[in-house]
Amino acid sequence: IFIGMVAGIIIGAILQALFDDSGDLRFSIFSFEISTYNILVEGIFSTLGQIFIASLKMLVVPLVFVSLVCGTSSLTEPSKLGRLGAKSVGLYILTTAIAVTLAISLGLLVSPGEGLNLSTDAEFTAKQAPSFSQVIVDMFPSNPINSMAKGNMLQIIVFAVLFGIAMAMVGEAGKRLGAFFEDINTVILRLVTIIMNLAPYGVFVLMAKLFATIGLDTIGSLAKYFVLVLAVLAIHAFLTYPILLKLFTGLNPWSLFKKMREAALFAFSTSSSSATLPVTMETARNKLGVGKSVTSFSLPLGATINMDGTAIMQGVATVFIAQVYGVDLSINDYVMVVLTATLASIGTAGVPGVGLIMLAMVLQQVNLPVEGIALIIGVDRLLDMTRTAVNITGDCTVACIVGKSEGEIDEAVYNDPDAGIREE
Ligand code: ASP
Repeated sequence: IFIGMVAGIIIGAILQALFDDSGDLRFSIFSFEISTYNILVEGIFSTLGQIFIASLKMLVVPLVFVSLVCGTSSLTEPSKLGRLGAKSVGLYILTTAIAVTLAISLGLLVSPGEGLNLSTDAEFTAKQAPSFSQVIVDMFPSNPINSMAKGNMLQIIVFAVLFGIAMAMVGEAGKRLGAFFEDINTVILRLVTIIMNLAPYGVFVLMAKLFATIGLDTIGSLAKYFVLVLAVLAIHAFLTYPILLKLFTGLNPWSLFKKMREAALFAFSTSSSSATLPVTMETARNKLGVGKSVTSFSLPLGATINMDGTAIMQGVATVFIAQVYGVDLSINDYVMVVLTATLASIGTAGVPGVGLIMLAMVLQQVNLPVEGIALIIGVDRLLDMTRTAVNITGDCTVACIVGKSEGEIDEAVYNDPDAGIREE
């Protein structure tokens, strides 16, 4: 997968260098028209990339629903579900709050927007961000089939949990249905494996398409902002998570990182926690040894509500935009930013670019101009890729902590470097 990614970036960058924006060769050495660019980038890379992402997404709804039904219906003590929920949500909120606080503190220290006077001729019209109470109400489906059709993860989670609980309550019938769901689950996991075997090619075409079309020239003026977001993402991933993991579980964080590599590359190339979910779940279950009820409950929830990387971007972006527009924010404002960015991360769907839309909610909260988003939109794609990798690393870290506290982590698997390596 890594080779696929690097090769894709190189091919994409070469195409970017050879062809201009309209797809014409930059150097007219050939006298005839060359449409290689269009065939390659718009035709082959783009088509195959879309098919790859669609195949991943195809698995998300069935996987989440079926594994969650299996997970909840097999819980023998009903109170366990409450505990799992409380621990997961509590840790998700804690890690996100740490993430924004870190982002704001380093933002204030480095002042990425100081002395910049960027023109804001780029337009950004903010979509209305939903209110927090709306986010809560929206968790409850009025039509579960509709939720599945739309891929509304929180609604699917609520329905699957209730369905699983009811199954556990009806005795024999529940057991029969349980066996049926277990079988479907096995088949879906097999499908995940099949698609993951195609991943190197999928990642290759996605990267080639992206790097052939991405405008890297904007990075110059935004270098400080860009590098700062990357730095805070790295600090959070390589410092906060290992510390929390060590503190709560005593497990070796290095194992987690090594085993997360593949899932992180998926997240990086798809920019979507949600599309990466099948891979994240497989990693947690087979490579990290986290028990089924924890992975099937905490990870879909995490892919939907836990976005530490996104909150980091929002924290740095708020400081940056305030500085560019010369607005002084008070301590109260910053506390407000921590609160709203944490809530915004809960409301951010795990798909590309949504974090930027939810940034509007944070900016509005402290009366900063929402058009400020236009400043950073040009470099957001690359940051989106990186923060999505952090988002799912956070989900797995929390899954390990919850797993350990519930006695549901197989440490032999966690420590075994070869655990969960798929057979070709
Ligand atoms: N792309 C991110 C994710 O799926 C969300 C975002 O920050 O836009 O995790």
